[in-house]
Amino acid sequence: MMKTLYIIIPCYNEEKVLPLTAPMFLKKINQLQEEGLISDNSRILFIDDGSRDDTWSIIQSLAKEDVHYTGIRQSRNRGHQNAVLAGLMEAKDKCDITISIDCDGQDDINAMDDMVQAYLDGCEVVYGVRKERKTDTFFKRFTAESFYKVLKWMGADVVFNHADYRLISSRVLNEFANFKEVNLYLRGMVPLVGFKSTSVYYARHERLAGESHYPLKKMLALAFEGITSLSTKPLKMITILGIGVVFLSLLAAFITLLVLLFGGAAGGIWWLALLIAFFAGVQIICTGLVGSYVGKAYMEVKARPRYIISERTKENE
Ligand code: UDP
Ligand code: MG
Repeated sequence: MMKTLYIIIPCYNEEKVLPLTAPMFLKKINQLQEEGLISDNSRILFIDDGSRDDTWSIIQSLAKEDVHYTGIRQSRNRGHQNAVLAGLMEAKDKCDITISIDCDGQDDINAMDDMVQAYLDGCEVVYGVRKERKTDTFFKRFTAESFYKVLKWMGADVVFNHADYRLISSRVLNEFANFKEVNLYLRGMVPLVGFKSTSVYYARHERLAGESHYPLKKMLALAFEGITSLSTKPLKMITILGIGVVFLSLLAAFITLLVLLFGGAAGGIWWLALLIAFFAGVQIICTGLVGSYVGKAYMEVKARPRYIISERTKENE
C-alpha cells in the first residue's frame, strides 16, 4: 500500500513568505504522488504559531484552494519547537511519514525526494543536513558550529549541522509521544528514540522573504535549552571547579610555607586570602555535590521511557 506523507510546517508571522513557498510544497507533494511514492491522502500541514499578522487567514484560504493544504493554529505563540511538536502529534495517526521543514524556503525542498526514498529503503528517521553554510554570516556559522561541538563534548547525541528539517515515520512518532518533557529540543530528542536512521545532504539558501525570528537572544536561549535538556555535565563541572580552587589554594599555602621557611615574609593578609580561597573552593564542591543530586532528580522527573522495543521475532506477542 502506498504511504501517506504529511509535511509539517511551522509558521510565525510569515505572511510575506507563505504565498511564495506554499505552492512549492504543493508542487512537491504532487510530484511525489505522480511518481507513485506517496498516496493521494498526503497533506501539507501548516501550524500557525499564534501569528499576529495575516498568516492564519492565508492558511485558511490555501485550505479552501486545494485539498492537500490543511492547517492548525496554536492558541498563542509558543515557539518553533512547540509548533513542530504540535504538528507532529496532530499528524502521527493520520499518516505513515512526516517531514518537518521551515516555511521560508531556506531548506531545499527537493531533498524530500531522497528522504522519502531513504524511508522506502527502510529508514525510520532521515536527518536533513546542511552541506555548507555559505549564506549564513560568519558569526552565525561560527557560533552554530562551536555549539554543536560543545554539545557533543557534553555527551549529547546530535547530528552535526542538522536543524529541524527531517523525516520521521509515524512508528517513531508513536514512541516519541512517550517523551513527556516540557523543555523541547527536538533535534537532540529524536536520536534518543533510536531506530534506523540516515542523513540526506542539501544546500541551505537565503530566506525567500520576511525576516528571521532567531535573533542572537533566541539562538542563545535555544543553545542553553539544548545543553540543559540533554546533559547534566555542567553540574559535574561545578564539582571539578571546586576541587580545582581548593587544590590551587593548598598549593599557594605550600608555597607560602616555603617562603616562610627560607626567611621570607608572608603577612597575615596572605593567610587570610588563602583561607578565603580554600573555603570558597569547599563551598563550590558542596554546591556541585548538591547539584549532582538535583541532576539525578531532574532526569527522573523527565520520566523518559526506559526502553523502546523496535522488533519482535513474532509480531503481536
Ligand atoms: N517559527 C515559529 N514560531 C516562532 C518562531 C519561528 O513557528 O516563535 C517558525 C518560522 O515561521 C519558520 C521557522 O520557525 O518557519 C524557523 O524560523 P526562522 O526562519 O525565523 O529561523 P532561522 O531560519 O532564521 O533560524
Ligand atoms: Mg529560516
